Amino acid sequence: LPEYAFIGRSNVGKSSLINMLTGRKALAKTSAKPGKTQLINHFLINKEWHLVDLPGYGYAKVSKSTKRTFQKFITAYFDKRKQLICAFVLIDSRHDPQPIDMEFMQWLGEHQVPFCIIFTKADKLKPKVLEKNINNYQEKMLEIWEEMPEFFISSATAKLGQEEILEYIDSINNELKANN
Ligand code: GDP
Repeated sequence: LPEYAFIGRSNVGKSSLINMLTGRKALAKTSAKPGKTQLINHFLINKEWHLVDLPGYGYAKVSKSTKRTFQKFITAYFDKRKQLICAFVLIDSRHDPQPIDMEFMQWLGEHQVPFCIIFTKADKLKPKVLEKNINNYQEKMLEIWEEMPEFFISSATAKLGQEEILEYIDSINNELKANN
């Protein structure tokens, strides 16, 4: 089955987003404490695709060796997954582009892993500020990439982005089925 992976810095809102997408509260536990999602979790959605919950990266408070272990874990996943269709990289819409995210996306590019961006916690910003931040992000991306990857705006609190993301995944899955 096709796989779609979700990844981002810890505390970016990944668990909340996964809960929103799957509509099941108990699926991915949210927490105010960073670093709680430590293993790779697979969720079967509609018996059609797997949602893969990858560990968050970039905790401020863990040791270098822990960071390296996590990196190995994540790179091992990407190296092995033949079913991976797309990685959704979560970015907190409130912040300026962060080196760790830019580096991670560059790494994905170098390893030919297709990815999209999801800007999270959109409810925390006024629409004008949100727009400004996303434009700013796009500009930064275009310094490195020829084009902006597909991106989505989400809020778990305001239930924003759920349909768009699920429809995007469904449309790819339908294409895959049609080509088989
Ligand atoms: P994870 O570490 O990336 O899995 O992040 P969580 O989903 O656990 O969320 C981290 C914190 O951000 C929690 O306090 C959440 O309640 C909060 N949060 C997550 N998503 C949203 C959102 O869309 N809007 C708002 N306002 N808060 C959010």
